Amino acid sequence: MKKLYASALALAACAAPFFAQAQALRLAAPGEGPTPRACGTMEVLAAQLAADPAQAQRMAAIEAHARRVQADRSLQRGQTTLAATGPVIIPVVVHVLYNTAAQNISDAQVQSQLDVLNEDFRKLNADYTKTPALYAGLVADANVQFVLAKRTPTGAATNGIIHKQTKVSSWSTNDAVKNSKRGGDDAWDATKYLNLWACNLGQGLLGYAQFPGGSASTDGVVILCSAFGSRAKYAAGTYTSTYDRGRTATHEVGHWLNLRHIWGDASCGNDQVSDTPTQQTANYGCPTFPHATCSNQGDMSMNYMDYTDDACMYMFSTGQSARMNALFASGGARASLLTSAGGTAPSLMAAAAPSFYPNPATDQLTLNLPDGATAGQYSVHVYDLRGREMPQARYTSGGQVQVSDLPNGMYLLSIGTGTEVVRQHFEKQ
Ligand SMILES: [Zn+2]
Repeated sequence: MKKLYASALALAACAAPFFAQAQALRLAAPGEGPTPRACGTMEVLAAQLAADPAQAQRMAAIEAHARRVQADRSLQRGQTTLAATGPVIIPVVVHVLYNTAAQNISDAQVQSQLDVLNEDFRKLNADYTKTPALYAGLVADANVQFVLAKRTPTGAATNGIIHKQTKVSSWSTNDAVKNSKRGGDDAWDATKYLNLWACNLGQGLLGYAQFPGGSASTDGVVILCSAFGSRAKYAAGTYTSTYDRGRTATHEVGHWLNLRHIWGDASCGNDQVSDTPTQQTANYGCPTFPHATCSNQGDMSMNYMDYTDDACMYMFSTGQSARMNALFASGGARASLLTSAGGTAPSLMAAAAPSFYPNPATDQLTLNLPDGATAGQYSVHVYDLRGREMPQARYTSGGQVQVSDLPNGMYLLSIGTGTEVVRQHFEKQ
């Protein structure tokens, strides 16, 4: 295991994945080295299956659907190759829950995470070329893209990032973070959005996800705020060393798209993917290839679904890509995301065209903007009734039109968005 210094910054700011009692993991003593990766997904699954026996049946149905789709190309999205239909576009809402200012990660840090996801799920990450020759032919473009939501479930404009202060100082895998009544923030409609929660996750965990087939109210991915985003893309953020390249989200979104840990969560277990080699258990740190177990020629420890450090995982396999994409085929558990309007900005005119007051006006007109809209999203011009633009009327960044220099009379106010224009009369007195 590579010797690394503990991140004092992260300890001070956004609780590093500390030396907790996650079972079956060898945990580093303070000063000994980095904390091993720990993901709570399987523990959460076990609790959900115990609480809701019907979930096992739903997951079995999803498994059967995945097998059918993967065996029959005519059932696959686009019915030809996955790439032929263009990528799946998934609208994302990020709920940033913070108790201290340092946990309130910036929009730029959030964006750096989206950028990592869009590299890793499209094989655009530069480091995939480190994949050993034995597995280089299996590195896959998973054909999934992520966009921050531009429209809320009720149709208002949004940037897809919610910052919410909370009295809760540390979170666990009990899903309280997904519940506004428990100090968290409710999920947006899981059939239309991928919900990501960035928070001060405790128990030494970097993240956990919910597999397809679980409850909609808890669907999504939770990630330690200091493991959210990429130091390489946005250096001014708050990060935990070793887990500062955004790969925790790649791993957890892999679970959300039905991928299992690459070792199958058992000794030489089965991850339900045929082209990933059977391997004995999780790898940590940055293993030297090959590390052969279970009669394989080397663990695929550079796979995002292993437990290696961010810098040492850089690929999904072709089989994993096919398994994820089966969810988007007809009848698939995540196919509803294909028709989500969450990634499309609402029309600035359709829902509520801006109005203005007063009319008649003497000094200035003020625009009443629809909810979520800003003055800068509109271009505003004033014309006389013969269609000549009046340069004396100036539109300000505050959403006002100065009309004091106009001669008295009737005018047309034109309000445009780039794609739509509305014109309304007003009188200068
Ligand atoms: Zn995991």
